[in-house]
Amino acid sequence: MKRYQLFINNEWVDPQSKAWFESLDPFSGEAWAEIPRAEAADADRAVMAAANAFEGPWSRISPSERGMLLHKLGTLIERDAESLAAIESRDNGKLTRDVLGQIKYMAKYYYYFGGLADKIQGAVVPIDKPKVYNFIRYEPMGVVLSITPWNSSLPLTTWKMAPALCAGNTIVCKPSEYTSASLFELAKLFVEAGFPPGVFNVVTGFGDEIGDPLVRHPSVQRIAFTGGDEAGRRIYAAAAQSLKRVSLELGGKSPNIVFDDADLDQAVNGVIAGIFSATGQTCVAGSRVLLQESIHDAFVQRLAQITKTAKIGNPADPANEIGPITTKPQFDKIRDYIAIAKKEGARCVAGGRVLTGPEFGAGQFIEPTIFVDVTNDMRIAQEEVFGPVLSVLKFKDEEDAIRIGNDIKFGLAAGVWTTSLHRAMLMSERLKAGTVWINNYRSSSYATPFGGVKQSGIGREGGIESVKEFMEAKSVWISTDLKMPSLFAGK
Ligand code: NAD
Repeated sequence: MKRYQLFINNEWVDPQSKAWFESLDPFSGEAWAEIPRAEAADADRAVMAAANAFEGPWSRISPSERGMLLHKLGTLIERDAESLAAIESRDNGKLTRDVLGQIKYMAKYYYYFGGLADKIQGAVVPIDKPKVYNFIRYEPMGVVLSITPWNSSLPLTTWKMAPALCAGNTIVCKPSEYTSASLFELAKLFVEAGFPPGVFNVVTGFGDEIGDPLVRHPSVQRIAFTGGDEAGRRIYAAAAQSLKRVSLELGGKSPNIVFDDADLDQAVNGVIAGIFSATGQTCVAGSRVLLQESIHDAFVQRLAQITKTAKIGNPADPANEIGPITTKPQFDKIRDYIAIAKKEGARCVAGGRVLTGPEFGAGQFIEPTIFVDVTNDMRIAQEEVFGPVLSVLKFKDEEDAIRIGNDIKFGLAAGVWTTSLHRAMLMSERLKAGTVWINNYRSSSYATPFGGVKQSGIGREGGIESVKEFMEAKSVWISTDLKMPSLFAGK
């Protein structure tokens, strides 16, 4: 079994605890790698390496050279995309072909933010005072801490790291305890690309043992977190003790709204991809489908029919379309929600069962599941399942769709299917979400901001503006001929 070490200051080191834990393959259920169990002392080593790099070698590298390093890293990721995808897929159980697509696309983040590194300009301010000159400098913050969940370790770290490095910060990464291996593999590419020691560091382990000491470390200036809202709240509260800058990308229960004037073939595909991609284990899952009353029954029939054709099994087999659930606790949670939905009176029209047999490995598989007769007050309509479970609700008209769509604590994303331009514009304005997709779902790009409103998070990742989320504006005043009078009349 492969045993990893922590990656600190471009060196591979054992955790101070000399303890490791096993990473499991969600398909076979077998342990395949040993991951270092880091604690507070390792947090200190990693943060101090990043802090020293920030003050030292990294600060002497010009923005253009920084950009070239990021670009080089992108080329190495493209070169090694297949081996990175094999490791990430083995750890998180997502379809290998999907992960490969994600990792190839991830390289473009480094090209895009590499290109931006020498284009973040300050400003001269036409200030309202005579004889003084004012300008704004944008400066990197220092050590950025990235904390990520298990569903997409490499891409979600990249969303934070590419703009943060572009801005001139240094990084400490804490991946999920379930999916740590791929970041160690990425670390090798940082060395090969020529990044100075300490710019990028990886420490692994559990939230309370290593995550919390990292969050509280006095030399961490900025925290970029993706994960569940419970951990998000704890991190936000701990960060408040030292007023650290924080961005949070949390969960969702996104409405995917189909009007009767929609292209229904497109809409059916969009609803299915919206919920069942990555076996429903995505934050933007369109897990609440709102159907206009007049099309409800026929649409549900088509949804159920197509859903039952899903090819389920080994994620490494390119013929399969649905893989296992990544973790055992998540598998149990999804089963609980299926039971809750039934108890609440929702009706299951597709799936709902656990799959067992030789083609389902260790048995961590749940059929793609659709519930109808769901009302918006039910738990299955309000709470994030993070699995292949769709809730279908009915609505009457635009106002009703907006009311139900917004009647939830989350606000990550929303989908709308309509051929009316008026409706498309109205819904894009009135839905409270960080992203609205009209006649498409799950589109994403490094060039546009992503993030949530309400309890889906704070801050945005992606797009030019995201670089400034990792910088502070400094206002500089220079007197050209400003006299400083004495404060005291008697001198
Ligand atoms: P999680 O919140 O349990 O864990 C996320 C990370 O936080 C892990 O690395 C964990 O070790 C760490 N952590 C936990 N407690 C901590 C603490 N007190 N201090 C510091 N670190 C701590 O999430 P998960 O179960 O791994 O992932 C699923 C969740 O992630 C879902 O709710 C999903 O919606 C969300 N998610 C959001 C997005 C988004 O962009 N909005 C994307 C993917 C996943």
